[in-house]
Amino acid sequence: ASPGKKRYTITLLPGDGIGPEVVSIAKNVLQQAGSLEGVEFNFREMPIGGAALDLVGVPLPEETISAAKESDAVLLGAIGGYKWDNNEKHLRPEKGLLQIRAALKVFANLRPATVLPQLVDASTLKREVAEGVDLMVVRELTGGIYFGEPRGIKTNENGEEVGFNTEVYAHEIDRIARVAFETARKRRGKLCSVDKANVLEASILWRKRVTALASEYPDVELSHMYVDNAAMQLVRDPKQFDTIVTNNIFGDILSDEASMITGSIGMLPSASLSDSGPGLFEPIHGSAPDIAGQDKANPLATILSAAMLLKYGLGEEKAAKRIEDAVLVALNNGFRTGDIYSAGTKLVGCKEMGEEVLKSVDSQV
Ligand code: ATP
Ligand code: MG
Repeated sequence: ASPGKKRYTITLLPGDGIGPEVVSIAKNVLQQAGSLEGVEFNFREMPIGGAALDLVGVPLPEETISAAKESDAVLLGAIGGYKWDNNEKHLRPEKGLLQIRAALKVFANLRPATVLPQLVDASTLKREVAEGVDLMVVRELTGGIYFGEPRGIKTNENGEEVGFNTEVYAHEIDRIARVAFETARKRRGKLCSVDKANVLEASILWRKRVTALASEYPDVELSHMYVDNAAMQLVRDPKQFDTIVTNNIFGDILSDEASMITGSIGMLPSASLSDSGPGLFEPIHGSAPDIAGQDKANPLATILSAAMLLKYGLGEEKAAKRIEDAVLVALNNGFRTGDIYSAGTKLVGCKEMGEEVLKSVDSQV
Protein backbone atom coordinates (compact mmCIF):
# COMPACT_ATOMS: atom_id res chain seq x y z
CA ALA A 1 0.00 0.00 0.00
CA SER A 2 1.20 3.51 -0.76
CA PRO A 3 1.89 5.73 2.28
CA GLY A 4 -1.18 7.37 3.75
CA LYS A 5 -3.43 4.76 2.21
CA LYS A 6 -5.53 2.95 4.75
CA ARG A 7 -6.37 -0.70 4.22
CA TYR A 8 -9.13 -2.64 5.90
CA THR A 9 -10.30 -6.21 5.63
CA ILE A 10 -14.05 -6.60 5.45
CA THR A 11 -15.82 -9.93 5.83
CA LEU A 12 -18.93 -10.14 3.69
CA LEU A 13 -21.66 -12.52 4.85
CA PRO A 14 -24.29 -12.37 2.08
CA GLY A 15 -26.44 -15.15 3.55
CA ASP A 16 -29.79 -16.02 2.01
CA GLY A 17 -32.72 -14.63 0.06
CA ILE A 18 -32.11 -11.04 -1.00
CA GLY A 19 -28.90 -11.01 1.11
CA PRO A 20 -26.49 -11.74 -1.77
CA GLU A 21 -28.17 -9.16 -4.04
CA VAL A 22 -27.96 -6.31 -1.56
CA VAL A 23 -24.50 -7.17 -0.18
CA SER A 24 -22.86 -7.27 -3.61
CA ILE A 25 -24.18 -3.77 -4.29
CA ALA A 26 -23.15 -2.44 -0.90
CA LYS A 27 -19.67 -3.87 -1.50
CA ASN A 28 -19.32 -1.86 -4.73
CA VAL A 29 -20.53 1.29 -2.98
CA LEU A 30 -18.05 0.76 -0.12
CA GLN A 31 -15.20 0.27 -2.55
CA GLN A 32 -16.10 3.39 -4.50
CA ALA A 33 -16.57 5.62 -1.44
CA GLY A 34 -13.33 4.30 0.03
CA SER A 35 -11.30 4.88 -3.10
CA LEU A 36 -12.40 8.53 -3.17
CA GLU A 37 -11.16 8.96 0.42
CA GLY A 38 -7.87 7.03 0.17
CA VAL A 39 -9.28 3.93 1.83
CA GLU A 40 -8.78 0.44 0.43
CA PHE A 41 -10.61 -2.74 1.24
CA ASN A 42 -9.85 -6.43 1.05
CA PHE A 43 -13.17 -8.23 0.85
CA ARG A 44 -13.59 -11.81 1.99
CA GLU A 45 -16.90 -13.44 1.28
CA MET A 46 -17.91 -16.25 3.66
CA PRO A 47 -20.99 -18.47 3.98
CA ILE A 48 -23.57 -18.15 6.78
CA GLY A 49 -27.17 -19.27 7.35
CA GLY A 50 -28.95 -21.45 4.83
CA ALA A 51 -26.16 -20.97 2.30
CA ALA A 52 -23.68 -22.42 4.81
CA LEU A 53 -26.05 -25.29 5.69
CA ASP A 54 -26.23 -26.25 2.02
CA LEU A 55 -22.47 -25.95 1.62
CA VAL A 56 -21.07 -27.55 4.76
CA GLY A 57 -24.03 -28.59 6.92
CA VAL A 58 -23.81 -25.99 9.69
CA PRO A 59 -25.28 -22.45 9.82
CA LEU A 60 -21.98 -20.89 10.92
CA PRO A 61 -18.79 -22.68 9.81
CA GLU A 62 -15.57 -22.28 11.82
CA GLU A 63 -13.91 -20.66 8.80
CA THR A 64 -16.56 -17.97 8.77
CA ILE A 65 -16.04 -17.26 12.46
CA SER A 66 -12.29 -16.94 12.16
CA ALA A 67 -12.49 -14.80 9.02
CA ALA A 68 -14.97 -12.49 10.75
CA LYS A 69 -12.85 -12.21 13.89
CA GLU A 70 -9.69 -11.45 11.91
CA SER A 71 -11.32 -8.69 9.89
CA ASP A 72 -11.88 -5.01 10.68
CA ALA A 73 -15.64 -5.15 10.18
CA VAL A 74 -18.36 -7.55 9.06
CA LEU A 75 -21.17 -6.74 6.64
CA LEU A 76 -24.09 -9.15 6.72
CA GLY A 77 -27.02 -9.47 4.32
CA ALA A 78 -29.87 -11.58 5.67
CA ILE A 79 -30.49 -15.11 6.81
CA GLY A 80 -33.20 -17.74 6.37
CA GLY A 81 -35.74 -18.92 3.84
CA TYR A 82 -38.59 -21.40 3.21
CA LYS A 83 -36.16 -24.14 2.25
CA TRP A 84 -34.82 -24.52 5.80
CA ASP A 85 -37.99 -23.66 7.73
CA ASN A 86 -38.51 -27.26 8.85
CA ASN A 87 -34.92 -27.87 9.95
CA GLU A 88 -34.44 -28.96 13.53
CA LYS A 89 -33.51 -26.22 15.96
CA HIS A 90 -29.71 -26.40 15.82
CA LEU A 91 -29.78 -26.58 12.02
CA ARG A 92 -31.83 -23.43 11.52
CA PRO A 93 -30.18 -20.70 9.45
CA GLU A 94 -31.10 -18.11 12.15
CA LYS A 95 -28.83 -20.00 14.55
CA GLY A 96 -25.93 -18.68 12.44
CA LEU A 97 -26.92 -15.11 13.19
CA LEU A 98 -27.09 -15.69 16.95
CA GLN A 99 -23.75 -17.50 16.80
CA ILE A 100 -21.90 -14.80 14.86
CA ARG A 101 -23.19 -12.13 17.27
CA ALA A 102 -21.94 -14.22 20.18
CA ALA A 103 -18.59 -14.98 18.50
CA LEU A 104 -17.95 -11.28 17.89
CA LYS A 105 -19.07 -10.39 21.44
CA VAL A 106 -21.14 -7.47 20.20
CA PHE A 107 -22.96 -5.82 23.10
CA ALA A 108 -24.19 -2.52 21.63
CA ASN A 109 -26.89 -2.46 19.01
CA LEU A 110 -27.33 0.83 17.15
CA ARG A 111 -30.51 1.35 15.20
CA PRO A 112 -31.21 4.68 13.56
CA ALA A 113 -34.74 5.70 12.61
CA THR A 114 -34.64 8.50 10.11
CA VAL A 115 -37.56 9.92 8.19
CA LEU A 116 -35.95 11.17 5.00
CA PRO A 117 -37.65 14.21 3.46
CA GLN A 118 -38.21 12.22 0.26
CA LEU A 119 -40.05 9.45 2.12
CA VAL A 120 -42.14 11.33 4.67
CA ASP A 121 -45.34 9.86 3.25
CA ALA A 122 -44.17 6.32 4.04
CA SER A 123 -44.27 7.19 7.74
CA THR A 124 -47.06 5.82 9.87
CA LEU A 125 -47.31 9.21 11.57
CA LYS A 126 -48.80 12.48 10.38
CA ARG A 127 -46.53 14.49 8.10
CA GLU A 128 -45.93 17.28 10.61
CA VAL A 129 -44.95 14.77 13.29
CA ALA A 130 -42.80 12.60 11.02
CA GLU A 131 -40.95 15.33 9.19
CA GLY A 132 -37.34 15.69 10.32
CA VAL A 133 -37.23 12.65 12.60
CA ASP A 134 -33.62 11.51 12.95
CA LEU A 135 -32.93 9.43 16.02
CA MET A 136 -30.75 6.53 17.11
CA VAL A 137 -31.61 3.79 19.58
CA VAL A 138 -28.59 2.32 21.37
CA ARG A 139 -29.65 -1.01 22.90
CA GLU A 140 -27.70 -3.13 25.36
CA LEU A 141 -27.54 -6.54 23.77
CA THR A 142 -25.97 -9.10 26.08
CA GLY A 143 -27.42 -8.51 29.55
CA GLY A 144 -30.64 -7.70 31.36
CA ILE A 145 -33.72 -9.84 31.76
CA TYR A 146 -33.10 -11.84 28.57
CA PHE A 147 -30.02 -13.44 30.13
CA GLY A 148 -30.28 -12.80 33.90
CA GLU A 149 -30.21 -15.65 36.43
CA PRO A 150 -32.14 -17.09 38.16
CA ARG A 151 -34.70 -17.88 35.53
CA GLY A 152 -37.06 -20.75 34.97
CA ILE A 153 -40.45 -22.27 35.55
CA LYS A 154 -40.99 -24.04 38.86
CA THR A 155 -43.89 -25.26 40.94
CA ASN A 156 -44.67 -23.33 44.13
CA GLU A 157 -46.08 -24.67 47.42
CA ASN A 158 -49.65 -24.44 46.07
CA GLY A 159 -48.72 -26.65 43.15
CA GLU A 160 -48.94 -23.74 40.75
CA GLU A 161 -46.35 -23.21 38.03
CA VAL A 162 -44.34 -20.00 38.43
CA GLY A 163 -42.37 -18.47 35.57
CA PHE A 164 -39.64 -16.00 36.45
CA ASN A 165 -36.77 -14.02 34.94
CA THR A 166 -34.28 -11.64 36.51
CA GLU A 167 -33.16 -8.22 35.37
CA VAL A 168 -29.45 -8.05 36.26
CA TYR A 169 -27.09 -5.21 35.40
CA ALA A 170 -23.73 -4.11 36.78
CA HIS A 171 -20.62 -2.92 34.89
CA GLU A 172 -22.35 -3.60 31.54
CA ILE A 173 -24.16 -0.31 32.11
CA ASP A 174 -20.95 1.71 31.84
CA ARG A 175 -19.92 -0.12 28.69
CA ILE A 176 -23.16 0.58 26.83
CA ALA A 177 -23.39 4.12 28.23
CA ARG A 178 -19.94 4.94 26.83
CA VAL A 179 -20.96 3.75 23.38
CA ALA A 180 -24.10 5.88 23.68
CA PHE A 181 -22.23 9.02 24.79
CA GLU A 182 -19.76 8.55 21.92
CA THR A 183 -22.65 8.02 19.49
CA ALA A 184 -24.46 11.14 20.71
CA ARG A 185 -21.20 13.03 20.27
CA LYS A 186 -21.04 11.99 16.60
CA ARG A 187 -24.66 13.11 16.20
CA ARG A 188 -26.39 16.14 17.75
CA GLY A 189 -24.99 15.79 21.26
CA LYS A 190 -28.22 14.83 23.03
CA LEU A 191 -28.58 11.58 24.95
CA CYS A 192 -31.78 10.33 26.55
CA SER A 193 -31.36 7.36 28.89
CA VAL A 194 -34.53 5.29 29.15
CA ASP A 195 -35.26 3.15 32.22
CA LYS A 196 -37.96 2.27 34.75
CA ALA A 197 -36.16 3.62 37.82
CA ASN A 198 -39.46 4.28 39.62
CA VAL A 199 -40.07 0.52 39.83
CA LEU A 200 -36.98 -1.57 39.01
CA GLU A 201 -33.81 -1.84 41.13
CA ALA A 202 -31.68 -2.60 38.06
CA SER A 203 -33.01 0.64 36.56
CA ILE A 204 -32.07 2.64 39.67
CA LEU A 205 -28.51 1.40 39.25
CA TRP A 206 -28.70 2.03 35.50
CA ARG A 207 -29.65 5.67 36.06
CA LYS A 208 -26.97 6.12 38.75
CA ARG A 209 -24.15 4.74 36.61
CA VAL A 210 -25.18 6.58 33.43
CA THR A 211 -25.40 9.82 35.42
CA ALA A 212 -21.96 9.22 36.95
CA LEU A 213 -20.39 9.00 33.48
CA ALA A 214 -21.93 12.23 32.24
CA SER A 215 -19.11 14.39 33.64
CA GLU A 216 -16.71 12.70 31.20
CA TYR A 217 -18.87 13.88 28.30
CA PRO A 218 -19.54 17.57 29.07
CA ASP A 219 -20.39 18.17 25.42
CA VAL A 220 -23.30 15.71 25.60
CA GLU A 221 -26.60 16.81 27.15
CA LEU A 222 -27.99 13.90 29.20
CA SER A 223 -31.65 13.43 30.14
CA HIS A 224 -33.65 10.53 31.62
CA MET A 225 -37.07 9.18 30.75
CA TYR A 226 -39.24 6.31 32.01
CA VAL A 227 -39.83 3.70 29.34
CA ASP A 228 -43.63 4.04 29.32
CA ASN A 229 -43.28 7.75 28.69
CA ALA A 230 -40.58 7.12 26.05
CA ALA A 231 -42.89 4.73 24.17
CA MET A 232 -45.53 7.46 24.17
CA GLN A 233 -43.17 10.29 23.25
CA LEU A 234 -41.82 8.27 20.30
CA VAL A 235 -45.17 8.47 18.54
CA ARG A 236 -46.27 11.84 19.99
CA ASP A 237 -43.14 13.83 19.15
CA PRO A 238 -40.22 11.69 17.91
CA LYS A 239 -38.28 14.79 16.80
CA GLN A 240 -37.36 15.53 20.42
CA PHE A 241 -34.94 12.57 20.39
CA ASP A 242 -31.39 12.42 19.16
CA THR A 243 -29.73 9.39 20.79
CA ILE A 244 -31.61 7.02 23.12
CA VAL A 245 -29.76 4.52 25.30
CA THR A 246 -31.58 1.71 27.05
CA ASN A 247 -31.39 -1.86 28.30
CA ASN A 248 -31.92 -5.04 26.33
CA ILE A 249 -35.68 -5.52 26.67
CA PHE A 250 -36.70 -1.85 26.46
CA GLY A 251 -34.35 -1.43 23.49
CA ASP A 252 -35.85 -4.44 21.74
CA ILE A 253 -39.29 -2.87 21.95
CA LEU A 254 -38.39 0.79 21.38
CA SER A 255 -36.15 0.11 18.38
CA ASP A 256 -38.96 -1.75 16.62
CA GLU A 257 -41.38 1.02 17.51
CA ALA A 258 -38.95 3.63 16.19
CA SER A 259 -38.43 1.75 12.92
CA MET A 260 -42.18 1.67 12.28
CA ILE A 261 -42.24 5.46 12.48
CA THR A 262 -40.23 5.55 9.26
CA GLY A 263 -42.48 2.99 7.56
CA SER A 264 -39.61 1.88 5.30
CA ILE A 265 -38.19 -1.49 6.28
CA GLY A 266 -36.01 -1.53 3.16
CA MET A 267 -34.22 1.64 4.29
CA LEU A 268 -33.09 0.82 7.82
CA PRO A 269 -29.51 -0.15 8.75
CA SER A 270 -28.04 -1.33 12.02
CA ALA A 271 -24.70 -1.72 13.74
CA SER A 272 -23.69 -4.08 16.53
CA LEU A 273 -20.47 -3.08 18.24
CA SER A 274 -18.04 -4.83 20.57
CA ASP A 275 -15.27 -3.53 22.82
CA SER A 276 -12.33 -3.72 20.46
CA GLY A 277 -13.11 -6.39 17.88
CA PRO A 278 -14.90 -5.96 14.56
CA GLY A 279 -18.48 -4.71 14.52
CA LEU A 280 -21.34 -6.40 12.70
CA PHE A 281 -23.36 -4.29 10.28
CA GLU A 282 -26.63 -5.41 8.72
CA PRO A 283 -29.98 -4.19 7.44
CA ILE A 284 -32.83 -4.67 9.92
CA HIS A 285 -34.99 -6.42 7.33
CA GLY A 286 -34.97 -10.16 6.80
CA SER A 287 -34.17 -12.30 3.78
CA ALA A 288 -37.49 -11.43 2.10
CA PRO A 289 -37.83 -14.79 0.34
CA ASP A 290 -40.97 -13.56 -1.43
CA ILE A 291 -38.90 -11.24 -3.64
CA ALA A 292 -35.49 -12.97 -3.58
CA GLY A 293 -33.71 -13.38 -6.91
CA GLN A 294 -36.14 -11.05 -8.69
CA ASP A 295 -34.04 -7.88 -8.60
CA LYS A 296 -36.77 -6.19 -6.55
CA ALA A 297 -35.05 -5.71 -3.19
CA ASN A 298 -34.25 -2.28 -1.86
CA PRO A 299 -30.46 -2.24 -1.38
CA LEU A 300 -30.47 1.04 0.58
CA ALA A 301 -30.72 -0.52 4.06
CA THR A 302 -27.55 -2.49 3.35
CA ILE A 303 -25.84 0.45 1.66
CA LEU A 304 -26.63 2.55 4.75
CA SER A 305 -25.31 -0.30 6.91
CA ALA A 306 -22.07 0.02 4.95
CA ALA A 307 -22.08 3.73 5.83
CA MET A 308 -22.48 2.79 9.51
CA LEU A 309 -19.59 0.35 9.08
CA LEU A 310 -17.41 3.22 7.93
CA LYS A 311 -18.61 5.66 10.59
CA TYR A 312 -18.97 3.49 13.70
CA GLY A 313 -16.77 0.54 12.75
CA LEU A 314 -13.75 2.16 11.13
CA GLY A 315 -14.05 5.84 12.06
CA GLU A 316 -14.00 6.75 8.35
CA GLU A 317 -16.60 9.47 8.66
CA LYS A 318 -15.89 11.21 5.36
CA ALA A 319 -16.40 8.06 3.32
CA ALA A 320 -19.54 7.33 5.38
CA LYS A 321 -20.93 10.79 4.60
CA ARG A 322 -20.31 10.21 0.91
CA ILE A 323 -22.53 7.13 1.01
CA GLU A 324 -25.28 8.81 3.05
CA ASP A 325 -25.29 11.74 0.64
CA ALA A 326 -25.30 9.45 -2.40
CA VAL A 327 -28.43 7.73 -1.10
CA LEU A 328 -30.13 11.11 -0.74
CA VAL A 329 -29.09 12.09 -4.27
CA ALA A 330 -30.53 8.87 -5.74
CA LEU A 331 -33.79 9.52 -3.89
CA ASN A 332 -33.80 13.19 -4.90
CA ASN A 333 -33.43 12.07 -8.50
CA GLY A 334 -36.68 10.18 -8.05
CA PHE A 335 -35.43 6.57 -8.04
CA ARG A 336 -37.46 4.14 -5.94
CA THR A 337 -37.61 0.38 -5.46
CA GLY A 338 -41.06 -1.19 -5.16
CA ASP A 339 -41.21 -1.01 -1.36
CA ILE A 340 -40.87 2.80 -1.32
CA TYR A 341 -42.48 3.57 -4.66
CA SER A 342 -45.10 6.30 -4.92
CA ALA A 343 -46.80 7.96 -7.88
CA GLY A 344 -44.56 10.33 -9.79
CA THR A 345 -41.31 8.55 -8.90
CA LYS A 346 -39.20 6.20 -11.04
CA LEU A 347 -39.57 2.50 -10.24
CA VAL A 348 -36.25 0.67 -10.48
CA GLY A 349 -34.87 -2.70 -9.46
CA CYS A 350 -32.22 -3.53 -6.92
CA LYS A 351 -29.32 -3.31 -9.39
CA GLU A 352 -30.39 -0.03 -10.93
CA MET A 353 -30.88 1.58 -7.53
CA GLY A 354 -27.36 0.42 -6.69
CA GLU A 355 -26.03 1.96 -9.92
CA GLU A 356 -27.69 5.27 -9.08
CA VAL A 357 -26.10 5.37 -5.63
CA LEU A 358 -22.75 4.37 -7.08
CA LYS A 359 -22.92 7.22 -9.59
CA SER A 360 -23.67 9.72 -6.85
CA VAL A 361 -20.83 8.53 -4.60
CA ASP A 362 -18.65 9.37 -7.56
CA SER A 363 -20.08 12.76 -8.31
CA GLN A 364 -19.70 14.23 -4.83
CA VAL A 365 -17.42 17.24 -4.60
P1 ATP B 1 -37.00 -12.06 9.52
O1 ATP B 1 -37.94 -13.01 10.17
O2 ATP B 1 -35.93 -12.73 8.71
O3 ATP B 1 -36.50 -10.98 10.39
P2 ATP B 1 -39.38 -11.29 8.16
O4 ATP B 1 -39.73 -12.53 7.42
O5 ATP B 1 -40.11 -10.93 9.38
O6 ATP B 1 -37.82 -11.27 8.45
P3 ATP B 1 -38.60 -9.65 6.00
O7 ATP B 1 -37.82 -10.75 5.41
O8 ATP B 1 -37.87 -8.45 6.41
O9 ATP B 1 -39.47 -10.08 7.21
O10 ATP B 1 -39.74 -9.25 4.99
C1 ATP B 1 -40.95 -8.63 5.39
C2 ATP B 1 -41.62 -8.01 4.16
O11 ATP B 1 -40.88 -6.85 3.79
C3 ATP B 1 -41.62 -8.94 2.95
O12 ATP B 1 -42.81 -8.78 2.22
C4 ATP B 1 -40.44 -8.46 2.15
O13 ATP B 1 -40.60 -8.66 0.77
C5 ATP B 1 -40.37 -6.97 2.48
N1 ATP B 1 -38.96 -6.52 2.47
C6 ATP B 1 -38.04 -6.78 3.41
N2 ATP B 1 -36.86 -6.26 3.08
C7 ATP B 1 -37.02 -5.63 1.91
C8 ATP B 1 -36.15 -4.91 1.04
N3 ATP B 1 -34.85 -4.71 1.31
N4 ATP B 1 -36.67 -4.42 -0.10
C9 ATP B 1 -37.96 -4.61 -0.40
N5 ATP B 1 -38.82 -5.28 0.35
C10 ATP B 1 -38.38 -5.80 1.51
MG1 MG C 1 -38.69 -14.29 8.23
